[in-house]
Amino acid sequence: MTEFATDSILVLVEVSPSGAVLPSAAGLIGAAAAIGSPVALVVAAPGAGPAAAKAAGEFGATQVLVAERPDAATSLLVPTVDSLAAAAALVSPQAVLLSHSVQGRDVAARFAARTGSALAVDAVGISRDDEGPVVHHSVYGGSYLVDSAASSGAIVLTVRQGAIEARAAATKPTIETLEVPASGMRDVDIVDFEEVVVASSRPELRGAKTVVSGGRGLGSAEKFALVEELADVLGAAVGASRAAVDAGYVPQSHQVGQTGVTVAPQLYIALGISGAIQHRAGMQTAKTIVAINKDANAPIFEIADFGIVGDLFAVVPQLVSAIQSKRK
Ligand SMILES: Cc1cc2nc3c(=O)[nH]c(=O)nc-3n(C[C@H](O)[C@H](O)[C@H](O)COP(=O)(O)OP(=O)(O)OC[C@H]3O[C@@H](n4cnc5c(N)ncnc54)[C@H](O)[C@@H]3O)c2cc1C
Repeated sequence: MTEFATDSILVLVEVSPSGAVLPSAAGLIGAAAAIGSPVALVVAAPGAGPAAAKAAGEFGATQVLVAERPDAATSLLVPTVDSLAAAAALVSPQAVLLSHSVQGRDVAARFAARTGSALAVDAVGISRDDEGPVVHHSVYGGSYLVDSAASSGAIVLTVRQGAIEARAAATKPTIETLEVPASGMRDVDIVDFEEVVVASSRPELRGAKTVVSGGRGLGSAEKFALVEELADVLGAAVGASRAAVDAGYVPQSHQVGQTGVTVAPQLYIALGISGAIQHRAGMQTAKTIVAINKDANAPIFEIADFGIVGDLFAVVPQLVSAIQSKRK
């Protein structure tokens, strides 16, 4: 039977209902490789395991456990939690990493409760000290950085999407089939599902490398097109403040902040956004923040790396044409 390194870090790779490995796997495996030996777990419907395992190898997993479960597509969570429990028993990892997605959060909580493990949520980084893995969090809207660690056992953590820059080199992993005893625990049965295909050439907001967001300062849905124009020349995702969403400029799925999406891009550009604490909570861990606002006292400038005090309707078109002419 396969041996697992004593510094193994178990990563749950998220797989879509159609069997595709989700992009969050890149950061999770990158983070695991930075502090130990990444072992990926793929839970998929029968037949979908090998392709997903290969994709996990491309993200840098050296060992992949594949649990093909006939109920993977018809039960919401229990097959995944059962598989994670079986994988953890086999690997004895030092940490278990999951995405801070809706599904990842749910699985992490159930798994931690079932195994009596310490749970650390919404991590923005992970490192190691003499005693083992140390998890880093950005809390209270990014005002404080907090570290957490388990006093015993493997820590279970969910990782904020887009927060981890590290990427592991691609491997040809060893792939092992995982036998999973069904726990028989109660679950939600999926009777039908419809995959929503979003026809957009823009990257998804969660996990995007660049985000351009617009606020109430845009003034109308029509004028919000300027945000999209800048996003498109930068290949960025489009975000918004809650005020912009409430005013109907863009759908709620674009909202960044405490009650919206949390993003951690390399570059975040805030246009006509004042920088309320609830907005900052969703974007403050961006690597570089650029703000354009006509009010020099707007709180967004307190956290901006670069700020332009000016009318965005004068500044942004110039920015767009400057970027376009650089590309020529
Ligand atoms: C419980 C709770 C949860 C919340 N959750 C969220 C959340 O998830 N996300 C979120 O964003 N907010 C959230 N809010 C709302 C938050 O408090 C702010 O009201 C909101 O973020 C303000 O949005 P804004 O910056 O677009 O608007 P405003 O605060 O009105 O700011 C507009 C800015 O645009 C600038 N401006 C105007 N015209 C121009 C121009 N022509 N050129 C340049 N600048 C211009 C102004 O100077 C101003 O700074 C929440 C609030 C509560 C109470």
